[in-house]
Amino acid sequence: MDDVVIIGGGIIGTATAYFLSKEGRKVKVIERDPTYKIASFPLSLGGFRRQFFQKENILLGKFAKEFIFNLPKNLKTKKNPNPTASMVPNGYLLMFGPDRAEEQYKALENHKECDAGTKNIKGSELPEFFPYINNDGIETATYTDNETEGWIDPFLFHGALKSKAEELGAKFIKGDIKNISEINAKTIVSAAGCWTKELLGDIPVVPQKHTVFRVKCPKYIKEMPLTGDLTTGVYWRPEGGEYLAGSPISTFDAKDLEPDWSHFDELVWPALAKRVPIFEELKLTGAWAGYYDCNKLDNNAVVGKHPKYENVYMASGFTGRGLMQAPGIGRALTELITTGKYQTIDISVFGVDRVLNSKARPEPYVL
Ligand SMILES: Cc1cc2nc3c(=O)[nH]c(=O)nc-3n(C[C@H](O)[C@H](O)[C@H](O)COP(=O)(O)OP(=O)(O)OC[C@H]3O[C@@H](n4cnc5c(N)ncnc54)[C@H](O)[C@@H]3O)c2cc1C
Repeated sequence: MDDVVIIGGGIIGTATAYFLSKEGRKVKVIERDPTYKIASFPLSLGGFRRQFFQKENILLGKFAKEFIFNLPKNLKTKKNPNPTASMVPNGYLLMFGPDRAEEQYKALENHKECDAGTKNIKGSELPEFFPYINNDGIETATYTDNETEGWIDPFLFHGALKSKAEELGAKFIKGDIKNISEINAKTIVSAAGCWTKELLGDIPVVPQKHTVFRVKCPKYIKEMPLTGDLTTGVYWRPEGGEYLAGSPISTFDAKDLEPDWSHFDELVWPALAKRVPIFEELKLTGAWAGYYDCNKLDNNAVVGKHPKYENVYMASGFTGRGLMQAPGIGRALTELITTGKYQTIDISVFGVDRVLNSKARPEPYVL
């Protein structure tokens, strides 16, 4: 019998393999596509933030920052002596219209309780801090300017975690698990991302296709934060002389990962040009699409032991934030598996019972 088998070698499975191996567990990770062509993590925008509504998400965002900053030291291996995730700590800027201002003021109380270090300004003050933004219709905005938020290269991040997990003894094996009953292990962890339902039919996590556009603009503002305009849902950030911009329109039951090109003219470009007038001159240079592992119940993670099994744990449903939550979730699952309860960040609210009993606990700040 194996000690631990993790199904899915994406970012959640690999981070969990790292933390469990560090605790001396003998881990096998089974991944059906080791090129990760359609896995979510390589197609993500790489953002890490602490600007959420719910305290658990804020705390996981804070842990992500610590983990990423310490990555060169903690994930160093013989094979990868200088690990990096190419971090760009430009911060986040989230802008809210009058209809969401009250909700944001409540979120700020949670930021404060979690010592998130975010700053809040009135919409009318935006030009003073971000002179390239048109503040029309913005009631309030929150940002960080202390290198606590930003983005990373998801593939490098995954590679560094995998290399360290392997050095600690984890084995990554190619395989496609059709049914959990195929596995004979003391502990099983489902980290199957948006394909979780194939293994655990009662978990409402499904693939949700999102498109990201690449655009070029004569003016490049390198220091721009990852910016979300919550009045339209469009978000963007600089990338290598160009910009990446995400469409808030998503598709369930998509047949393929062809980008939804029509979103660009219909929504994304007008929204960008309205909010950042220099974007009127931009040119579309490319696009890609990827799947969010969407928890249809409440857009929040589902993590913990599955009550219908003796030895099955799971982590999925991150709905646009699984990359940044991977370190915190890997550590939390490891604590739960090795000690029977969460030790550092208590994420019991994300438990599996919640979704089995349809008790929604929505996280409103999905980008
Ligand atoms: C466009 C886009 C932008 C995003 N932006 C961000 C962002 O800025 N910040 C952020 O934190 N998150 C972001 N995300 C979300 C993030 O990418 C996901 O939440 C995260 O990758 C989920 O990690 P995972 O390991 O659960 O899933 P995945 O990365 O999809 O990995 C799951 C793996 O499991 C394997 N697998 C599944 N079923 C089986 C099986 N039965 N047998 C064997 N292997 C199996 C799959 O092949 C896959 O490799 C974004 C996602 C998209 C698509």
